[in-house]
Amino acid sequence: MLHFHVLTPFTEEFENLINFGLIGAAKRKNLFSLSVYNLRDYGVGNHHAIDDRPFGGEDGMVITAPVLEKALENIKTQSSSENKISEQGQPLPHLTLYLSPQGQPFTQTLSEKWLKSYQSFTLICGRYSGVDQRFLNHYAIEEVSIGDYILSGGELPAAIIIDTLVRQTKGVLGNDKSAQEDSFSQSPYLLEPPLFTRPQVWQNQKVPDVLLSGHHENLKIWKKHISLLVTYKKRPDLFMKLNLTSSEMDKLIHFYNKLTEEEKISLGFNNLNLITNNKGN
Ligand code: SAM
Repeated sequence: MLHFHVLTPFTEEFENLINFGLIGAAKRKNLFSLSVYNLRDYGVGNHHAIDDRPFGGEDGMVITAPVLEKALENIKTQSSSENKISEQGQPLPHLTLYLSPQGQPFTQTLSEKWLKSYQSFTLICGRYSGVDQRFLNHYAIEEVSIGDYILSGGELPAAIIIDTLVRQTKGVLGNDKSAQEDSFSQSPYLLEPPLFTRPQVWQNQKVPDVLLSGHHENLKIWKKHISLLVTYKKRPDLFMKLNLTSSEMDKLIHFYNKLTEEEKISLGFNNLNLITNNKGN
């Protein structure tokens, strides 16, 4: 079972991000476990201070290395006493991460790689201006970013990472197969085809016939092409990485040209400018 240790000065706020919906239900069903540690418990003085002013005259505050060290050592002691060992008596593979806008970008592919390699994770949430660099050096801690923007703390990024990992855990989704149809679920990345539900006609837009036909083979081929077209439309950067050959591109254009105007509108493909400047061969 996956286990997460999360270190944050905002424990309650963090838990509120986890304890609802699919992931909250998975936690209640013990499909993964979570230990949240309050960084303030390791703070100094009457006010349990965890931060100090940065050297060099910058504004803001920095979480100190000794406070982080005490907290991390405590997490290590607690997790080893919780007997997290494999059936072969080995310690379970563990990854310690610092959530940081400077880290390697978090992607679906990275989450899959981690799931193959690790069974437990320690997620360290920064606050204020960040953490003392020497702490990261000393423990050789990997940094991970959820995107090129600055948030005020690592709690949302930690919750995002846990959600992504837990969602891929067996038994969490009602139907484990549905995750395989999600966008980004297969490499190279493709986006999921558009979704439709009842009513079959809404505001003059009809659900495409093939989705109602029950013809599984046709549906599979159709979905594959529609995925390519959606990726072309919404994420041309991902589409270029597919490096389709000119004959694959010709087939896609042929498929697109055979869609009726009505289908193109329902699929959101009106005015799709499908051009053939693909560099493949
Ligand atoms: N001064 C830091 C910098 O410029 O790199 C940013 C500090 S940020 C205001 C405070 C904390 O939020 C960080 O220590 C980190 O834990 C978290 N954080 C902010 N943006 C993030 C992102 N894109 N990905 C992961 N964590 C982030």
